[in-house]
Amino acid sequence: MPRSSYVNGAYIPHKDASVHIEDRGYQLADGVYEVIACIHGHLADERGHLDRLQRSLSELDMNMPVQRNSLQFIMRELLRRNRLSNANIYIQVTRGEAKRDFPYPANSMGPSLVITTWPFQFDNQSKMEEGVKVVTVPDQRWKRPDIKTIALLPQVLAKQKAVEQGAYEAWMVDNEDFVTEGASSNAWIVTRAGTLVTRKATTDILRGVTRTAIDKIRKDLQIEMEERSFTPAESYEAVEAFSTSAVALVTPIIDIDGHKIGSGKPGEVTMRLYDEYISYVNGLRGEQLGWAA
Ligand code: PMP
Repeated sequence: MPRSSYVNGAYIPHKDASVHIEDRGYQLADGVYEVIACIHGHLADERGHLDRLQRSLSELDMNMPVQRNSLQFIMRELLRRNRLSNANIYIQVTRGEAKRDFPYPANSMGPSLVITTWPFQFDNQSKMEEGVKVVTVPDQRWKRPDIKTIALLPQVLAKQKAVEQGAYEAWMVDNEDFVTEGASSNAWIVTRAGTLVTRKATTDILRGVTRTAIDKIRKDLQIEMEERSFTPAESYEAVEAFSTSAVALVTPIIDIDGHKIGSGKPGEVTMRLYDEYISYVNGLRGEQLGWAA
Protein backbone atom coordinates (compact mmCIF):
# COMPACT_ATOMS: atom_id res chain seq x y z
CA MET A 1 0.00 0.00 0.00
CA PRO A 2 1.65 3.28 -1.07
CA ARG A 3 2.10 6.04 1.48
CA SER A 4 -0.57 8.77 1.23
CA SER A 5 -0.33 12.48 1.90
CA TYR A 6 -2.97 15.16 1.90
CA VAL A 7 -2.79 18.17 -0.46
CA ASN A 8 -5.58 20.73 -0.71
CA GLY A 9 -8.59 18.47 -0.47
CA ALA A 10 -7.18 15.20 -1.78
CA TYR A 11 -5.36 12.14 -0.43
CA ILE A 12 -2.58 11.51 -2.89
CA PRO A 13 0.21 8.93 -3.20
CA HIS A 14 3.11 10.57 -1.38
CA LYS A 15 5.41 10.39 -4.40
CA ASP A 16 2.96 12.48 -6.44
CA ALA A 17 2.03 14.97 -3.69
CA SER A 18 3.04 18.51 -4.66
CA VAL A 19 2.08 22.18 -4.69
CA HIS A 20 2.65 24.71 -7.46
CA ILE A 21 6.03 26.41 -7.94
CA GLU A 22 4.37 29.76 -7.27
CA ASP A 23 3.10 28.68 -3.87
CA ARG A 24 4.06 31.48 -1.47
CA GLY A 25 5.41 28.95 0.96
CA TYR A 26 7.95 27.78 -1.59
CA GLN A 27 8.86 31.26 -2.83
CA LEU A 28 8.57 33.45 0.26
CA ALA A 29 8.27 31.13 3.28
CA ASP A 30 4.86 32.77 3.74
CA GLY A 31 3.34 30.08 5.89
CA VAL A 32 3.26 28.26 9.21
CA TYR A 33 3.29 24.67 10.38
CA GLU A 34 2.63 22.28 13.26
CA VAL A 35 3.92 18.87 14.20
CA ILE A 36 1.80 16.55 16.32
CA ALA A 37 2.86 13.18 17.70
CA CYS A 38 0.47 10.27 17.63
CA ILE A 39 1.36 7.76 20.34
CA HIS A 40 -0.58 4.49 20.64
CA GLY A 41 -3.31 6.17 18.57
CA HIS A 42 -3.54 9.23 20.86
CA LEU A 43 -2.79 12.60 19.30
CA ALA A 44 -0.57 14.34 21.86
CA ASP A 45 -2.05 17.69 22.87
CA GLU A 46 -3.98 17.94 19.62
CA ARG A 47 -5.99 20.85 20.99
CA GLY A 48 -2.87 22.74 22.05
CA HIS A 49 -1.28 22.29 18.63
CA LEU A 50 -4.41 23.34 16.75
CA ASP A 51 -4.83 26.36 19.04
CA ARG A 52 -1.22 27.34 18.30
CA LEU A 53 -1.72 26.80 14.55
CA GLN A 54 -4.68 29.16 14.66
CA ARG A 55 -2.62 31.67 16.62
CA SER A 56 0.36 31.47 14.19
CA LEU A 57 -2.04 31.93 11.26
CA SER A 58 -3.70 34.93 12.88
CA GLU A 59 -0.26 36.56 13.33
CA LEU A 60 -0.01 36.29 9.50
CA ASP A 61 -3.59 37.62 9.09
CA MET A 62 -4.75 34.20 7.93
CA ASN A 63 -7.63 31.97 8.96
CA MET A 64 -7.67 28.23 9.47
CA PRO A 65 -7.76 26.77 5.93
CA VAL A 66 -10.55 24.35 6.87
CA GLN A 67 -12.78 23.95 9.93
CA ARG A 68 -10.96 22.58 12.94
CA ASN A 69 -13.06 19.40 13.01
CA SER A 70 -12.30 18.83 9.32
CA LEU A 71 -8.59 19.11 10.08
CA GLN A 72 -9.02 16.61 12.91
CA PHE A 73 -10.81 14.27 10.56
CA ILE A 74 -8.16 14.60 7.82
CA MET A 75 -5.33 13.77 10.25
CA ARG A 76 -7.13 10.63 11.42
CA GLU A 77 -8.01 9.59 7.89
CA LEU A 78 -4.38 10.00 6.85
CA LEU A 79 -3.22 7.89 9.80
CA ARG A 80 -5.81 5.27 8.85
CA ARG A 81 -4.76 5.22 5.20
CA ASN A 82 -1.12 4.90 6.21
CA ARG A 83 -1.96 2.33 8.92
CA LEU A 84 -0.11 4.26 11.58
CA SER A 85 -0.78 4.43 15.30
CA ASN A 86 2.65 5.75 16.29
CA ALA A 87 3.33 8.66 13.97
CA ASN A 88 4.41 12.23 13.50
CA ILE A 89 1.88 14.38 11.71
CA TYR A 90 3.11 17.45 9.83
CA ILE A 91 0.62 20.21 8.95
CA GLN A 92 1.66 23.12 6.76
CA VAL A 93 -0.48 26.08 5.75
CA THR A 94 0.77 28.71 3.32
CA ARG A 95 -0.85 31.75 1.77
CA GLY A 96 -1.16 29.68 -1.37
CA GLU A 97 -0.46 30.15 -5.02
CA ALA A 98 -0.22 33.63 -6.52
CA LYS A 99 1.93 35.65 -8.92
CA ARG A 100 5.15 36.39 -7.06
CA ASP A 101 4.97 39.69 -5.17
CA PHE A 102 5.64 40.62 -1.56
CA PRO A 103 2.32 42.04 -0.26
CA TYR A 104 -0.59 39.71 0.36
CA PRO A 105 -2.05 38.84 -3.06
CA ALA A 106 -5.41 40.35 -3.99
CA ASN A 107 -6.25 37.41 -6.26
CA SER A 108 -5.02 34.33 -4.54
CA MET A 109 -6.20 30.78 -5.05
CA GLY A 110 -6.64 30.60 -1.26
CA PRO A 111 -4.38 28.93 1.26
CA SER A 112 -2.53 25.67 0.68
CA LEU A 113 -2.95 22.93 3.24
CA VAL A 114 -0.54 20.03 3.19
CA ILE A 115 -0.47 17.18 5.70
CA THR A 116 2.06 14.38 5.81
CA THR A 117 2.63 11.58 8.30
CA TRP A 118 5.48 9.21 8.96
CA PRO A 119 6.07 6.39 11.42
CA PHE A 120 7.33 7.43 14.85
CA GLN A 121 9.37 4.83 16.70
CA PHE A 122 9.18 6.74 19.96
CA ASP A 123 10.17 3.95 22.34
CA ASN A 124 13.28 1.78 22.31
CA GLN A 125 15.25 4.69 20.92
CA SER A 126 18.93 4.57 21.79
CA LYS A 127 18.82 8.31 22.49
CA MET A 128 16.49 7.63 25.42
CA GLU A 129 18.86 5.08 26.89
CA GLU A 130 22.12 6.85 26.17
CA GLY A 131 21.12 10.52 26.02
CA VAL A 132 22.26 12.95 23.35
CA LYS A 133 24.83 15.67 22.79
CA VAL A 134 24.04 19.32 22.25
CA VAL A 135 26.18 22.15 20.88
CA THR A 136 25.48 25.85 21.29
CA VAL A 137 25.29 28.20 18.29
CA PRO A 138 24.32 31.88 17.90
CA ASP A 139 20.57 32.48 17.58
CA GLN A 140 20.35 34.11 14.15
CA ARG A 141 16.57 34.14 13.77
CA TRP A 142 14.14 36.99 13.19
CA LYS A 143 12.43 38.78 16.09
CA ARG A 144 9.25 36.68 16.18
CA PRO A 145 10.32 33.09 16.89
CA ASP A 146 7.04 32.72 18.83
CA ILE A 147 5.33 32.27 15.43
CA LYS A 148 5.79 28.76 14.06
CA THR A 149 6.82 29.92 10.62
CA ILE A 150 8.17 27.67 7.88
CA ALA A 151 11.11 30.11 7.46
CA LEU A 152 13.54 27.72 9.10
CA LEU A 153 16.87 28.53 7.47
CA PRO A 154 18.59 29.59 10.74
CA GLN A 155 17.51 26.27 12.27
CA VAL A 156 18.70 24.35 9.20
CA LEU A 157 22.15 25.91 9.63
CA ALA A 158 22.13 25.35 13.38
CA LYS A 159 21.18 21.67 13.04
CA GLN A 160 23.79 21.16 10.35
CA LYS A 161 26.44 22.53 12.74
CA ALA A 162 25.18 20.09 15.36
CA VAL A 163 25.34 17.14 12.98
CA GLU A 164 28.86 18.08 11.89
CA GLN A 165 29.92 17.99 15.54
CA GLY A 166 28.24 14.67 16.26
CA ALA A 167 25.41 16.31 18.22
CA TYR A 168 21.66 15.71 18.09
CA GLU A 169 20.48 19.25 18.74
CA ALA A 170 21.77 22.82 18.69
CA TRP A 171 20.86 25.17 21.51
CA MET A 172 20.72 28.73 20.25
CA VAL A 173 22.24 31.57 22.25
CA ASP A 174 21.15 35.23 22.14
CA ASN A 175 23.37 38.35 22.09
CA GLU A 176 23.41 38.49 25.91
CA ASP A 177 24.81 34.95 26.06
CA PHE A 178 21.57 33.34 27.23
CA VAL A 179 20.21 30.14 25.71
CA THR A 180 16.95 30.82 23.88
CA GLU A 181 15.87 27.29 22.85
CA GLY A 182 16.84 24.34 20.70
CA ALA A 183 16.72 24.56 16.90
CA SER A 184 13.53 22.46 17.05
CA SER A 185 12.90 22.03 20.78
CA ASN A 186 12.69 23.84 24.09
CA ALA A 187 15.78 23.74 26.31
CA TRP A 188 15.71 22.71 29.98
CA ILE A 189 18.22 22.19 32.76
CA VAL A 190 17.85 20.77 36.26
CA THR A 191 19.75 22.50 39.07
CA ARG A 192 21.50 20.87 42.03
CA ALA A 193 18.41 21.74 44.11
CA GLY A 194 16.30 19.68 41.67
CA THR A 195 14.59 22.74 40.16
CA LEU A 196 13.68 22.76 36.47
CA VAL A 197 14.84 25.84 34.60
CA THR A 198 13.58 26.87 31.16
CA ARG A 199 13.40 30.22 29.44
CA LYS A 200 10.30 32.33 29.91
CA ALA A 201 8.02 32.06 26.88
CA THR A 202 7.96 35.59 25.50
CA THR A 203 8.30 36.44 21.80
CA ASP A 204 11.96 35.23 21.99
CA ILE A 205 11.06 31.55 21.77
CA LEU A 206 8.34 29.22 20.56
CA ARG A 207 6.01 28.36 23.41
CA GLY A 208 6.25 24.59 23.05
CA VAL A 209 3.08 22.61 23.53
CA THR A 210 5.21 19.87 25.10
CA ARG A 211 6.81 22.53 27.34
CA THR A 212 3.34 23.50 28.57
CA ALA A 213 2.45 19.84 29.21
CA ILE A 214 5.67 19.33 31.18
CA ASP A 215 4.86 22.40 33.25
CA LYS A 216 1.48 20.89 34.14
CA ILE A 217 2.99 17.47 34.92
CA ARG A 218 5.80 18.89 37.07
CA LYS A 219 3.20 20.81 39.11
CA ASP A 220 1.37 17.53 39.82
CA LEU A 221 4.69 15.94 40.80
CA GLN A 222 5.54 18.96 42.97
CA ILE A 223 8.78 19.64 41.16
CA GLU A 224 9.89 23.27 41.34
CA MET A 225 10.33 25.23 38.13
CA GLU A 226 11.89 28.59 37.36
CA GLU A 227 11.06 30.30 34.09
CA ARG A 228 14.21 32.28 33.51
CA SER A 229 17.14 32.58 31.15
CA PHE A 230 20.33 30.61 31.70
CA THR A 231 23.75 30.79 30.06
CA PRO A 232 25.63 27.95 28.37
CA ALA A 233 28.08 28.12 31.31
CA GLU A 234 25.25 27.48 33.79
CA SER A 235 24.03 24.57 31.68
CA TYR A 236 27.50 22.92 31.84
CA GLU A 237 27.10 22.82 35.65
CA ALA A 238 23.54 21.46 35.58
CA VAL A 239 22.89 18.02 37.07
CA GLU A 240 20.53 17.15 34.20
CA ALA A 241 19.44 18.67 30.91
CA PHE A 242 16.79 17.79 28.37
CA SER A 243 14.93 18.98 25.28
CA THR A 244 11.19 18.88 24.71
CA SER A 245 9.14 18.88 21.52
CA ALA A 246 6.43 16.90 19.78
CA VAL A 247 9.16 14.78 18.15
CA ALA A 248 11.88 14.82 20.85
CA LEU A 249 9.21 14.24 23.56
CA VAL A 250 11.54 14.53 26.58
CA THR A 251 15.04 13.77 25.30
CA PRO A 252 17.84 13.45 27.87
CA ILE A 253 21.00 15.46 27.19
CA ILE A 254 24.29 14.16 28.52
CA ASP A 255 26.80 16.54 26.94
CA ILE A 256 26.70 20.25 26.11
CA ASP A 257 29.61 21.70 24.11
CA GLY A 258 31.80 18.80 25.25
CA HIS A 259 30.92 19.26 28.95
CA LYS A 260 29.55 16.14 30.58
CA ILE A 261 26.19 16.82 32.24
CA GLY A 262 25.72 15.20 35.66
CA SER A 263 26.86 11.60 35.57
CA GLY A 264 26.92 11.57 31.77
CA LYS A 265 23.81 9.38 31.74
CA PRO A 266 20.13 10.34 31.31
CA GLY A 267 18.99 11.96 34.56
CA GLU A 268 16.37 10.64 36.97
CA VAL A 269 14.11 13.70 36.82
CA THR A 270 14.29 13.71 33.02
CA MET A 271 13.35 10.05 32.71
CA ARG A 272 10.53 10.44 35.21
CA LEU A 273 9.15 13.35 33.19
CA TYR A 274 9.45 11.27 30.01
CA ASP A 275 7.49 8.37 31.55
CA GLU A 276 4.87 10.70 32.98
CA TYR A 277 4.58 12.49 29.65
CA ILE A 278 3.87 9.21 27.83
CA SER A 279 1.20 8.36 30.44
CA TYR A 280 -0.25 11.83 29.99
CA VAL A 281 -0.50 11.38 26.20
CA ASN A 282 -2.13 8.01 26.76
CA GLY A 283 -4.81 9.71 28.83
CA LEU A 284 -3.64 8.39 32.19
CA ARG A 285 -3.00 11.81 33.72
CA GLY A 286 -6.18 13.73 33.17
CA GLU A 287 -7.14 15.90 30.30
CA GLN A 288 -4.72 17.19 27.68
CA LEU A 289 -4.21 20.88 27.30
CA GLY A 290 -5.22 23.73 25.11
CA TRP A 291 -2.44 26.10 24.25
CA ALA A 292 -2.02 28.89 26.79
CA ALA A 293 -1.53 32.21 25.02
N1 PMP B 1 11.15 25.49 19.76
C1 PMP B 1 11.30 25.37 18.43
C2 PMP B 1 12.15 26.35 17.71
C3 PMP B 1 10.66 24.32 17.74
O1 PMP B 1 10.81 24.21 16.41
C4 PMP B 1 9.89 23.38 18.47
C5 PMP B 1 9.26 22.21 17.79
N2 PMP B 1 8.40 22.54 16.80
C6 PMP B 1 9.74 23.56 19.85
C7 PMP B 1 10.38 24.62 20.47
C8 PMP B 1 8.90 22.62 20.66
O2 PMP B 1 7.53 22.83 20.42
P1 PMP B 1 6.47 21.67 20.64
O3 PMP B 1 6.70 21.14 22.02
O4 PMP B 1 5.17 22.36 20.52
O5 PMP B 1 6.72 20.65 19.58
